[in-house]
Amino acid sequence: MHTMWKGTISFGLVNIPVKLHAATENKDIKLRQLHEECHSPVEYEKRCPVCDRDIENDEIVKAYECQK
Ligand SMILES: [Zn+2]
Repeated sequence: MHTMWKGTISFGLVNIPVKLHAATENKDIKLRQLHEECHSPVEYEKRCPVCDRDIENDEIVKAYECQK
């Protein structure tokens, strides 16, 4: 089973749909860091792409990725 990520990546004003395969095929459950407020995956340097602001460590919750 492949792990899939669905969503959009913003390049400037253009939103491009993305469907990414995980880099690894292992079955390990991946621990994700999500913004506690809206449950969006936290980007590099702990920035929430939805809220468009930096996030403090105490605003981050951990969640497991689910597979269908
Ligand atoms: Zn957020």
